[in-house]
Amino acid sequence: MDEEEQGKKPGRDKRMRALTAKFNSAKEWEDYCFRVHEPYLRSRHFRKWINEKGIGISNFSNLGKNEVRFIRLGIKDAIRAAKLHFKIYDNDSHAAKKAAGLADKAIKGSELLRMAIEKRICDKKEHADIFIFNSHIKSGNTTIRDGEALTYVPEGVMAFSFDPFTRYPRSFLRRRAKHEGLHLLGLNAHHEDTEVSGYSQGKPCVMRYNAPTSRLCRKCKDALECFWEGIEHATKR
Ligand SMILES: [Zn+2]
Ligand SMILES: [Zn+2]
Repeated sequence: MDEEEQGKKPGRDKRMRALTAKFNSAKEWEDYCFRVHEPYLRSRHFRKWINEKGIGISNFSNLGKNEVRFIRLGIKDAIRAAKLHFKIYDNDSHAAKKAAGLADKAIKGSELLRMAIEKRICDKKEHADIFIFNSHIKSGNTTIRDGEALTYVPEGVMAFSFDPFTRYPRSFLRRRAKHEGLHLLGLNAHHEDTEVSGYSQGKPCVMRYNAPTSRLCRKCKDALECFWEGIEHATKR
């Protein structure tokens, strides 16, 4: 089943499914994940937000405090899985919205990115940003909506779009946030995109396209740990 056929379900990820990359051993996989940060480290934004060790959440949607709390818990789960010590801040959404001058119609991903970076320069604080909208978000030919999210890793910007008339179960919000949080924290590939000898491919995993469970499988967990070990190694010099 391809992404388009899965499209009826909420929470699907808009990323195109990549061809499955094959690795012959866990060692080969870990070496690959250790080096995969190179293009990110060339972005000055990436270095800044990982040094700041903070993620700001701005809720522009009709989700209530309690629902946002579950999104926050999912992001926390992702931070914990990466063995990082990042803080999560709640941004004052009304002030931020006013400052950003955001339209309530569809939001353009590129404009959101520009706005987020401008706001950081203004605040003199370069933490990563998570925005929660009811509006659709447009990026190229894709439209993000109904529990989907768009993530820009180098800039540390993630945006969710939730349907204003849907009641999302809390477990869904938490798993979805963990999945997207793990993308933000460098786990770029989906579970189905790679096959590594030595790991069982059939495991339930939050990094499957539709985030069916909150568990992170060993293969994806090892990838995440090696990614951050690689960054630590590269930024120490
Ligand atoms: Zn995804
Ligand atoms: Zn996995």
